[in-house]
Amino acid sequence: MPDESLTSHPAHALTNLLRRGKCSPLQATTAYLDRIQALNPKLQALISVDEERAKNRASALLRADAERLPLYGVPVIVKANICTEGFEANCGSNILSGFHPPYHATVVERLERAGAVVLGMANMDEFAFGSSCETSCKGPTRNPWDLDRIPGGSSGGSAAAIAADLGAAALGSDTGGSIRQPAAMCSVVGLKPTYGRVSRYGLIAFASSLDQIGPLTKDVEDSALFMEVIAGLDSHDSTSADVKVPTYRAALRRPIGGMTVGVPKEYFIGGLDPEVERAMKQALAALKGLGVQFKDVSLPHTEYAVPTYYIAATAEASSNLARFDGVRYGRRVPSGNLQEMFENTRGEGFGAEAKRRIILGTYVLSRGYYDAYYAKALKVRTLIRQDFEKVFETCRAIVTPTAPTPAFRLGEKLDDPLSMYLSDIFTISVNLAGVPALSLPCGFTQAGLPIGMQLIAPAFGEETLFHLGSAYEQATDWHLRKPAAVAS
Ligand code: GLN
Repeated sequence: MPDESLTSHPAHALTNLLRRGKCSPLQATTAYLDRIQALNPKLQALISVDEERAKNRASALLRADAERLPLYGVPVIVKANICTEGFEANCGSNILSGFHPPYHATVVERLERAGAVVLGMANMDEFAFGSSCETSCKGPTRNPWDLDRIPGGSSGGSAAAIAADLGAAALGSDTGGSIRQPAAMCSVVGLKPTYGRVSRYGLIAFASSLDQIGPLTKDVEDSALFMEVIAGLDSHDSTSADVKVPTYRAALRRPIGGMTVGVPKEYFIGGLDPEVERAMKQALAALKGLGVQFKDVSLPHTEYAVPTYYIAATAEASSNLARFDGVRYGRRVPSGNLQEMFENTRGEGFGAEAKRRIILGTYVLSRGYYDAYYAKALKVRTLIRQDFEKVFETCRAIVTPTAPTPAFRLGEKLDDPLSMYLSDIFTISVNLAGVPALSLPCGFTQAGLPIGMQLIAPAFGEETLFHLGSAYEQATDWHLRKPAAVAS
């Protein structure tokens, strides 16, 4: 079998080939490494790759019991804010350059135990602050569908890598949309699990009440497969929930006729790109053809989601980032005395967006402003969560566009933070409410840029997302298209 054909498969198909002995784990890993070598210089989706480690691990799998390993020989990529022993976890930031974590995050440990092979670390916006992957100290990642455009962010490296077949699947993190928005812009499947569903032990924290780790995959079945491996209680993370992990793949390929799905009026408004609107209309028609019943619903506090998020998330980020002081992790700028050392390390180590968030977060937490901003934001957050609970009384799921526009040009929004922040207008509420959401490919613009649809379910309702998502995916072929810009 020519090696290129190995890299186009979703993980579930690849692992079946490997189990049947059609090729070896080392051949699969080598095929991916070759592709990374050929294409990553154009895309900058990965910021570090360890060929030797990957090949050694793949070779060692020959002695494993393939039938018992759900991800037997599957080459994966990990976002650079998820600790992976042997790799630099720099979070796209100069301040963490040289930081090699001494342990695996729980998710990485679970992936490796399931037979996956880590190829390398994916590029990202600095500390996951951003929607375009342009704030990384390593330079921007490019969108495989149009190299002059951003891949979305902050898990832009993970999404671009999977779209370009540089890995079979990737892990990302999502605080306000960072898995789903890049998944939509690169035409891959991205899941933000329920808050507490997946352990964050070893995830370098951005906003601890919002962060979740999730998979970016080539199809919905892989999303379910990866969740079976990474979800579940972890004694190292007190926020991980003691809720049984279902066999998610049992939810695939079941009829969806009669399912009631809410269409929130606040998400189909002016400002929505006409081509996104057209694709969404077609997607809703396809779902209707499968028997879905739509219901007009309202999430009335949606307009407050972006400001609420930027208060809550920056407040948490400012305190989480206080630990980067030149003493414990990463880089130090030597200076005359301790105070100067802190100032110079943080002054030189953080980029402009990180500084903006630290300042904003410190401000909203400061005496005199705490009640006016932070405490009020928490109250609005409750209202936003209740909006969802109310809709879920009568609907099994909600459908929306993932992002208001397709991928924009590199540099287009870099000097306009507000317009960059609005890129997450449809994804942020989901994190504030703590519920799960899946983005999946639902079309392309005339210029060939991907468009994503978002499905949202009640807390711990990931099965509903896979059920609905796989039915849509079976009926369409958007997820099968590959970007011509990186065709080899
Ligand atoms: N784009 C949003 C932000 O900049 C979300 C980022 C994320 O989910 N990590 O905060």
